[in-house]
Amino acid sequence: MNIPITPLDAWIARRLEDETPGGGYSAETLRPVDRNNLETAQERALRILVRHAAANAPFYRKCLRGLEDAPLRELPFTFPSDLAGAESRFLTVSQSAIRRVITLTTSGTTSPAKRLHFTAEDLNATEEFFFRGMTTFTPPGSTVGVLMGGTGPDGIGGLLERALRRMNCSVHVFPLRESPVETAARMDEVRPLVMVGLPARTVAITTLSRHAPAIVLLSGDMAPPSLRRRIEERWGCRVFVHYGLTESGWGCAVECAAREGCHVRELDLLSEIVDENGNTLPPGEWGEVTLTTLTRLSMPLIRYRTGDEGRILPGRCSCGSVLRRLEVRGRLPRRRSGGEPLRLYDVEEVLWRFPQVQDFSLFLSEGDHDRASDALFLELVISEKGEGIADDVVRSLQPLPGMPRHIVVTQKRCSVPEHREAKRNWKTRSSFSGVGESGKS
Ligand SMILES: [Zn+2]
Repeated sequence: MNIPITPLDAWIARRLEDETPGGGYSAETLRPVDRNNLETAQERALRILVRHAAANAPFYRKCLRGLEDAPLRELPFTFPSDLAGAESRFLTVSQSAIRRVITLTTSGTTSPAKRLHFTAEDLNATEEFFFRGMTTFTPPGSTVGVLMGGTGPDGIGGLLERALRRMNCSVHVFPLRESPVETAARMDEVRPLVMVGLPARTVAITTLSRHAPAIVLLSGDMAPPSLRRRIEERWGCRVFVHYGLTESGWGCAVECAAREGCHVRELDLLSEIVDENGNTLPPGEWGEVTLTTLTRLSMPLIRYRTGDEGRILPGRCSCGSVLRRLEVRGRLPRRRSGGEPLRLYDVEEVLWRFPQVQDFSLFLSEGDHDRASDALFLELVISEKGEGIADDVVRSLQPLPGMPRHIVVTQKRCSVPEHREAKRNWKTRSSFSGVGESGKS
């Protein structure tokens, strides 16, 4: 089967040619991305970024002193805790240049919120990536439904809308505040060919809508194979995955037609995988996804530890592109009292295999001294036919690495799934996380 090369390749190849002295883009001469050229351009952009950050961002002024020419792996990491409550120390532009502020809060804890600032230029860069990425599977002139957070002209929905209009698509943004029943009814009216949605929210719609989109792009949360399969089986569609986070300007990497990992927008973001001690890992090995915002100079993030577990897939993609591919499993596994780490992704993968499960929330209770008293509390939202699956669920979860001995399942019967938080995370005795957003115009 002949798999078309990711459209990100031609986009990046063109930018590389435009940057080359004496180069310049022409449709006849454009070749696929050359890894050496790309890495040379990345190195050049990194040097500009590091000097800019060291000179203009108070946070980096001190920690990058004397490291302006150091290789990437010798530069210090930036942690989410560095960012929390201290965004002004990362900004290199005046407040008047900021178009959008996104606030990420962790409620139930005392840690301050993280605020990400974006200029018009930053938002345009994301729009450009969305535009290139969406052409992977969106025929021009299609009707596209968007079921994502981020309202307003400069939110995710707004940027996707701008990108898709350039392809003459008609775009319908379904607000997350609507119930799944309302969204499904609107979807039956609009009949989108392509749907972009949060994974669990999209699953909820599959049982309610009569219309079935042909293409689905999942984004904003983890999408284990069982969840993808469920959507594909119910709608008879093809599911693609995008990986991104607010800190990366939403867009980061998207699957091509081969669907073997997400190609990274490598001229804008430098990706690394690091182990617990901060050592850079080779392709194929799982560790923490770490990102450097190569072209975002307004609020640079250097070696930002995302808290997500992923790996760089080795070798060239079967689409033919040498662009790096990321496979991401969501939040890093949680290691309890020195035991084996427990992975939320593994729990999700098991739960979505049960067709009766509509949604769920998890709560991890950790004993003070020993792991024997640890427990996983699981609240399942199940369909009308879903009675009596608790024992089967417990049996399926028990063999997972790091699973507490005690698994307590409660079931709530519900014909229609309810609204819930956008991104799933561990809830423990002391922390409950949520995401908030604020706009600025
Ligand atoms: Zn590919």
